[in-house]
Amino acid sequence: MSKPTSRRSFISKAAIATALTPMVSLSAFGKGYETAIDNIPKASSPADLKITEVKCGYIRGSLFVKIYTNQDIWGCGEGVDAIPGTYHLVKNFGERIKGKSPLNVHRLFEDIRRSGFFQGAQSGMYIAVLSAIETALWDLAGKALNLPVYQLLGGKFRDKVRVYCDTALYQRNLPTPKDFADAATNAVKMGFNALKFDLDQANDPNKYDAYNWTASHGELKRMYDQIAAARAAVGPNIDICVDMHGRYDAVTGQAVAKLLEPLNLMWLEEPIPAENAEAYKLISESSSTPICAGENHYLAHGFRRLLEIGAVDIVMPDLQKAGGLGEGQRIANLANLYYVPFAPHMVASFLGAMASAHVCASVPNFLILEWQSYFHTQPMFKEIVHYEGEWVQNSFITVSEKPGIGVEINEEGMKKYAIPGIPFFE
Ligand code: MG
Repeated sequence: MSKPTSRRSFISKAAIATALTPMVSLSAFGKGYETAIDNIPKASSPADLKITEVKCGYIRGSLFVKIYTNQDIWGCGEGVDAIPGTYHLVKNFGERIKGKSPLNVHRLFEDIRRSGFFQGAQSGMYIAVLSAIETALWDLAGKALNLPVYQLLGGKFRDKVRVYCDTALYQRNLPTPKDFADAATNAVKMGFNALKFDLDQANDPNKYDAYNWTASHGELKRMYDQIAAARAAVGPNIDICVDMHGRYDAVTGQAVAKLLEPLNLMWLEEPIPAENAEAYKLISESSSTPICAGENHYLAHGFRRLLEIGAVDIVMPDLQKAGGLGEGQRIANLANLYYVPFAPHMVASFLGAMASAHVCASVPNFLILEWQSYFHTQPMFKEIVHYEGEWVQNSFITVSEKPGIGVEINEEGMKKYAIPGIPFFE
């Protein structure tokens, strides 16, 4: 009995055959995968794969999207941050892609991105929802073709993706330098070799005005003491990132970048709000502390000027918000033209973390991905997904080899956390 041809081995052969063909006919344009899978021995026909429905659920700060098909496969994706109130937007986008093949991921992304009257000048909620849908399309395409997402993105540069641990001290009221030192020590004990701390504190008693974000000398001293304590606790070889959440002005951004120079940060993140690239350039040029931004920028368009004028040293797009996995790869490749590292922001579930990891594996200039300490402290995060194996080991995620993203959502586990009043996967 002859060995049946697997989808994967067929695609390898098809890729070789295509490479040997001198010219691809125009009529075959865009039909690559569909033609390939047409010829695979199978019970059902992936080439007839069509999207039938798009459903969603809202948990904590995340939108989970599930795209169903006329065959027994589906894809899941996640959007974050700019997602409250977007149920009808998900439904609207779902109607646009119903009946279409999910395998043309870039095309469906463009169809939705350009579907407004002005052909694509979108950001905010629109792009956050598009990010969730685009990610679900990659998951679905991977399952249909029996390939992990990183492979669909062109293959990988690395098997493991380094992560830094967000220490979540923001959950504590007025954390002391000792709190910073203890959180740093604990994260290192857990195996992390890179950490992040937040410096913005709206209720700092040395802050005298709710709207003016010029830090007083008391606030500056508090910031220095906190990060100095963390540095002293973990020594010189642990990477430390510091986030100001865009809550200060340019004079304070310059002061903090200068003040923290002796502590050798991996980066100072969003010292000022996202809109003004020239103000970022001012801060970057005033200090040897690397300046990082991007979690409030959308699409590759949002990163162009930052990179063109050298406003930042590192870009940190949030792939569950900035446009999804393909757009994340485009942002990384754009940054690579300027020799700027790519360090995605990540505040999603483990589905979002693994989805991001596939992109991180697929680009040369990947530096590090965000990891959340809440994965270890809040049971909800384990309950809302299915995944066999270790999530993280010694500051690295092993990129899944399963078809698609490799992490499934658990709707049953999600139910009790669903935001009341919004239809839940209906
Ligand atoms: Mg941030």
